[in-house]
Amino acid sequence: MSVAESNDPVDASVSAETATGELTDGFHLLIDALKLNDIKTIYGVPGIPITDLGRMMQEEGLRVLSFRHEQNAGNAAAIAGFLTKRPGVCLTVSAPGFLNGLTALAHATTNCWPMILISGSSEREVVDLMQGDYEEMDQLAIAKPLCKAAFRILHAQDIGIGVARAVRASLSGRPGGVYLDIPGALLGQVMDEIEGAKSLVKVIDPAPAQIPAPGAVARALDVIKGAKKPLIILGKGAAYAQADEAVRKFVETSGIPYLPMSMAKGLLPDNHPQSAGAARSLVLKESDVVIMVGARLNWLLSHGKGKSWGEPHSTKFVQIDIEPREMDSNVEIAAPLVGDMESCLTALTEGMAAGWKAPPQEWTDAVREKRDANVARMAPTLQNNASPMNYAGALGAIKRVVDKNPETMFVNEGANTLDFARSMVDMHRPRKRLDVGTWGVMGVGMGTAIAAAVETGLPVLAVEGDSAFGFSGMEIETICRYNLPVCVVVFNNNGIYRGTDKNRAGGEDPAPTVFVENARYDMMMEAFGGVGVHATNPDELHRAVSEALESGKPTLVNAVIDPAAGKESGNIGSLNPTSVVAKRMSHHVLEIIKQKAAQ
Ligand code: ADP
Ligand code: MG
Repeated sequence: MSVAESNDPVDASVSAETATGELTDGFHLLIDALKLNDIKTIYGVPGIPITDLGRMMQEEGLRVLSFRHEQNAGNAAAIAGFLTKRPGVCLTVSAPGFLNGLTALAHATTNCWPMILISGSSEREVVDLMQGDYEEMDQLAIAKPLCKAAFRILHAQDIGIGVARAVRASLSGRPGGVYLDIPGALLGQVMDEIEGAKSLVKVIDPAPAQIPAPGAVARALDVIKGAKKPLIILGKGAAYAQADEAVRKFVETSGIPYLPMSMAKGLLPDNHPQSAGAARSLVLKESDVVIMVGARLNWLLSHGKGKSWGEPHSTKFVQIDIEPREMDSNVEIAAPLVGDMESCLTALTEGMAAGWKAPPQEWTDAVREKRDANVARMAPTLQNNASPMNYAGALGAIKRVVDKNPETMFVNEGANTLDFARSMVDMHRPRKRLDVGTWGVMGVGMGTAIAAAVETGLPVLAVEGDSAFGFSGMEIETICRYNLPVCVVVFNNNGIYRGTDKNRAGGEDPAPTVFVENARYDMMMEAFGGVGVHATNPDELHRAVSEALESGKPTLVNAVIDPAAGKESGNIGSLNPTSVVAKRMSHHVLEIIKQKAAQ
C-alpha cells in the first residue's frame, strides 16, 4: 500500500518533499523508538492485541521473554530497572493482563525503580462510550494513581514522543513506574517511513547530575561534625545510583559506622570493619546523628522515632535524597541534602578532606564490640547439622556457598526465610541482594530471579519460603524454557510462618496457614526438564546448591525445614493484629445474632 492509497488521516501529515511512498507502521515505530532508547529486553505475556508486536520485537533484535503470568513479568521488569538504571519494560494484553501487570508497576514506583508497563488496549471511542468491547477498560485512568506518570499514544507520529516521555519520566528525579497505553489500532496505523524515522526521539541525559547547594553541604557537615555517636544508613537508593566508589570513599573517609538496609547490603562487603549490620539495635538506639544515604525513614526504620530509636528521642538526621519532598516525611531533617547520590557524597567527602576528625573511638569501639559479639554468638548455630533443618542450619549452608561465590545474584523472599537470610547470609558486592522491597511483596521471587539472570548473565540463587514461592512458582517453566542459570531453594516448612497450625474449629479443613505436608517442590522442576533435589540436611543442601551454581542448570532444591521452626510473621509479628478476645462471643451475643438471621 502506498501513501496515496491509505485512508488513514495520519497520512495527511506526510510532506511532499520527504515522502518516499514507502510506509512504516505503529508496530515498527514502537520497536524502533524503544531500541533507539537502549531498551534491549521485553518481559511480558503475549495475547490480544500485542501478539504480533512480541513476534516482531524478537524479529527486530529485542530479547523477548514470555512469562506465564504478567505479575511475574512485571516484577522482572521492575528489578531490571533497579539493576541497570534503565527502565525495565513489561508488555501485556488489555484489561486483565494490564491489571496483572499493575501490581508490579506500583511496586516499582514504591521502590523508586524505573519501569515502563506497556499494555495494549481497546479503542478509546468504544471505551469512553462504555460499549462493551473485548476486555474493555479505561486503563489510563486506572493506572494514573498507581504510578509516577501515565501516557496514551493515539497517533503513529506521536510514538517517538510518547516513548521518550515514558523513558524520561521513569528515570528522571526519583525514578518510578510509568504506564504507556497502546490502543490496538495504533499498531496498524501507517505513515511515511522517512517521516516516521524523523519522528523518533532519543532521550538525552534522562537523569542529569543534580548538584547539592553548597550551603546545604556545609550545613550537613556541621551537623556531622557535632556528633558524638554518628551513624550512616545506606539504602537501596544508594545501590540504585551505582555510585559505589563514592559510597566507599564517603564511608571510609568519615570513619563512621554504617548500617546497610536490606538491598544496600554488599554496597560495602558485610565484613567491612565499619559495618554495624550485626549491631543494629545498638546503633539505632544510641546514635545521635544519622546520615541517611538513599534510604527512607519509613516503617522499615520505625519512622525514625519510638523505642527502637532510644528515648527520649534526640537523633538528628542528615538526609541525602534526590526527592526534595522526602525530607521531613516522618521526623524533622536537620540537614536536608537534595541532589543525586554521587554528587552529594562527593561534595561531603571533599568537604571532609581538610582536617577531618574521626568519630570518638569510644563509640566506634562500642559498635565493633557489639557487632563482633553478635557475630560470634551466631557462628555456632550456623554450623548446626540438624535434620529436619532449622533456619540457621539451612542458611549456614547457603551462607558458605555465597561466601565462596560472591558474584552470585541472591534473590530472597518469605517471612522467616527472608528475615533470617537477611541477617545470616553476607553480601560481598553491590546490588547482589534482591528481595521484597519497601512493601515486602510476596511473589517477586521468580520474576526477580529471571531478570537477574537475563540482565547480568550471572548465576542466580533464589532462597524462597514455600508460601512465597507459590505466588510465582509456575515460572520455573520459564526458567527451564530459556535455560537460565537459576537455582531455586524452597524452604519447605509445610506452611506460612509455621507448618504446625491446627483448625481451631476441629473440622477437616486444614488451618489457613498450612499447606500439603511434605510436598515435593523439586518434582515440579523435573516436570520441565530441570534438576530437582530433595535435601533433608545442611550438607545435602550445600552440595546441591554448589553443584547448581557450578553447572548453571535450572535447579530446584526442596529444603526440608522443621515445621515448628518459624515464628509468626517473621520479625514483623507486631504488624499482624491478633485478637485479644479469648472466646469469640458469649452465649447471649450468639442468641442475638441467631434472632437477626431468622428475621
Ligand atoms: P531502603 O528501603 O533501602 O531504605 P528506600 O527505597 O526507602 O531505600 O529509599 C531510597 C531513596 O533513594 C528514595 O527516597 C529515593 O528518592 C532515593 N534515590 C533514588 N535514586 C537516587 C539517586 N540517584 N540519588 C539520590 N537519591 C536517590
Ligand atoms: Mg513456609
